[in-house]
Parts: sequence; structure tokens; C-alpha cells
Amino acid sequence: MSLAKNPFIILPLDIKNQQIHLPVLEEKKVELFIKREDLIHPFVSGNKFRKLKYNIQEAENQNKKVLLTFGGAFSNHILATAVAGNLSGYKTIGIIRGDELGNDLEKTLVNNSTLREAHKNGMTFEFVSRAIYRNKSDVEFKNQLKEKFGDFYLIPEGGTNDFAIKGCEEILTNDDVNFDYICTAVGTGGTISGLINASDNHQKIIGFPALKGEFLVDEINQFVQKKNWNLQTNYHFGGYAKYNDALIQFINNFKKETDVLLDPVYTGKMLFGILDLVDKNQFAKNTKILAIHTGGIQGIEGFNQKLKRKGQQIIQ
Ligand SMILES: *Cc1c(COP(=O)(O)O)cnc(C)c1O
Repeated sequence: MSLAKNPFIILPLDIKNQQIHLPVLEEKKVELFIKREDLIHPFVSGNKFRKLKYNIQEAENQNKKVLLTFGGAFSNHILATAVAGNLSGYKTIGIIRGDELGNDLEKTLVNNSTLREAHKNGMTFEFVSRAIYRNKSDVEFKNQLKEKFGDFYLIPEGGTNDFAIKGCEEILTNDDVNFDYICTAVGTGGTISGLINASDNHQKIIGFPALKGEFLVDEINQFVQKKNWNLQTNYHFGGYAKYNDALIQFINNFKKETDVLLDPVYTGKMLFGILDLVDKNQFAKNTKILAIHTGGIQGIEGFNQKLKRKGQQIIQ
């Protein structure tokens, strides 16, 4: 398929910055806008589209027919790769953490909407133990995968590599130069790296890690030269996919008051952090903040299964 016709690469993008009105923003005279990257596609949303775009182009350049990548059982990246691959005519293989999930695939698919949707889009799964998954970068493991699946284009866990960062540099447009701060959630650090590279020198980029990630600063410094950024490490809520009642309540209130739905793993934590910093007078009057909605909405269904046992839910 020629690039110009690839329905994935030419997904129509009309991303808007939506102003958020909340009492705390009025009181502190801070303007907050959200870049609605979550609306790019229901399953290839936000930064996962940005990260896959040039990787798929590169797979095409290398004449590959198969995309192989890694992720957890609720991974936004796994589902995005499955759907993007399907749209672009690639076979996809997902190496999934948790060998117990492979014991009864039918049951796994009934219980897990992320994997169910990926499966519908033709993804082949290889479920591996946590120990093997931890060593997934080993040459030996890669060779085993080559033996089993033949030739493939490998996309790393979370999708982060040089091609991904090039894609994330396209999140910011010329109009965004008026913002004083650009905020994003951080997982592997690929998205924030693209934002830093694309930022203007007067702008500051703030990352909100979704996990306890002491390694993230070094990781990001591999991809960026500029120094106009920092990480706010107090808003991970205990670690990756960890949460508390306050976070769930915040996400539900935010939806009620702004009509913007946030995911509990990444964007909910970021917005909680931004508004907490506003409340604590960390932004001067008349500051303009742009927060990137990196997507992740598909993960709410799986998260709600966990919450249901405690009588809670995120209202979509
Ligand atoms: C994957 C993901 C992130 C993290 O992006 P990185 O580039 O890995 O830092 C943030 N938000 C959402 C919704 C994601 O799915």
C-alpha cells in the first residue's frame, strides 16, 4: 500500500484546544486549555497515534508485513497497534505480560475489553510470564520470537523510539506558542520528549509521571537537549495504575463540570496535579497552560471492573 493511501497515516486530524472553566481557575486568574488528542480515534487515541505514525511509515519503508510489540493486559499501546495495523494492512503480534491469561483465551477475551478489541482487529497474542517479560529486550528472546513468528518490525513497549518522538513533535502547532506551560502525563517519557523538542524557548514543559519513575529524567535526557522542562513527581498516586478514592472522585467531578472524560492511569493524575498546583499558587496570575489529553479512554472499562468490587465507577 502506498503511504499516501494508508488510511491510518492520513487519519483526519482536527485537534482543538478546549478552554476549561472551573472556580479555582477563575479565582487564581489562570487560563487552562486541553488539547483534545483523545478525539483522534477511539482506540488509536492521543499519543499512541503520534507514536505509531512514523513507525508504521518506517515499517513500510523496510517492506515489513508484520508489527510486533509488547504490553500489559490493559495497554493502550497494544490496542492502538492492533487497530493501526489493521487499518494499514499489517499483521500484528502482541507479546502480553501474564502467561496465566493464555490458559483460557476465550475467558480472557470475555473479561478484558482491551484484548478483546485487539483480537477483533486481528492481533495474535503471545502470553509470557512476568520473568520472561522483564527480559524482553534480550537478544535471545528476540531470536526466539523470530523463529516463532518470522520477520517483523519491532515496536518497543509503550511505543517509544526516535520515530515515536518525531511523531510526538507534531502535537504542538504554531498557535500553541502563546502558552506559557505545556503539561503532559508521562509513562516512558516519549511524549514529553517530543513536546520539549517542539517547544519554544520561553515555554516550560511539565511532566506528571504516572508511576514512581526515578529513571525518567535520564530516559528523557536521551531524547532532548533543551532544559525548559521538569517533572512533578507527587501525583502518581502510589504507582502505575494505582489510585485512591480522591482520584476517582476527581475524574467524575471533572467530567460533570467540564464534559471532558479523563482516564485514571494518566490524564486523570495529570489534571489532578495541574489543578492542585494552581490551587497552591504555583502559577502566576494570567498564566496560560495547555494540557495535552493523551487519550487512554479505552482503558476505563477494564478499570471499572476493578472499581466495581468496591462499589465505585468512572462514569463515562
Ligand atoms: C502511553 C500513554 C501515556 C504515556 O506516554 P509516554 O510517551 O510513554 O510517556 C500518557 N497518556 C496516555 C493516555 C497513554 O496511553
